[in-house]
Amino acid sequence: MPHNVLIMGPPGSGKGTQAARIAERQGLAHISTGDMLRAAIAAGNELGEKVAAILKRGDLVPDDLMLELVMHRLEQSDTANGFLLDGFPRTVTQAEALLESLEGDRALEGLLHMVVPEDELVRRALSRGRNDDTEETIRHRLKVYHDKTKPVLEFLVGKVPVHVIDGVGEMDEITARIVSALES
Ligand code: AMP
Repeated sequence: MPHNVLIMGPPGSGKGTQAARIAERQGLAHISTGDMLRAAIAAGNELGEKVAAILKRGDLVPDDLMLELVMHRLEQSDTANGFLLDGFPRTVTQAEALLESLEGDRALEGLLHMVVPEDELVRRALSRGRNDDTEETIRHRLKVYHDKTKPVLEFLVGKVPVHVIDGVGEMDEITARIVSALES
């Protein structure tokens, strides 16, 4: 089984839920940059104040801030047995910096790409009913994903083994698909 993995997928693809399950099951540190940023906002600290409006709009937090946050997190000891990055990298700049910083037994061993049709994504996001999830914000987040994050996939193909995961179906079924992809 690979130990250092990243999961990518558009907002609403279920990547956060699946990442938490897989990390728990495999004993990997679950590094969700969205969760880290939301925690900073809830704590009202300096980072939180800087990023609150950006998250509300569905835009991306600047690369320098994200890199500082993630590089610091990767230094923590719970990542020694492996980590699952969820929501990072989201730009090619972030991906380049990540690959450069992870060497030897820390190198990335797999990329899980969650695929869900766009109509299904919007339907799911609206039914979640978070107050920042207006249809406009959701469409904007999807556009940001297409413009900024899709190129990350293209950049990583050939550098990291990619596993395409069908993200439509029952939660347990999707978890099983991910586990079997990782084991293959
Ligand atoms: P997520 O929970 O992964 O959907 O992230 C929620 C929000 O946090 C995103 O819409 C972005 O505003 C911000 N965010 C999370 N990860 C990153 C990242 N790697 N780079 C830039 N912004 C991010």
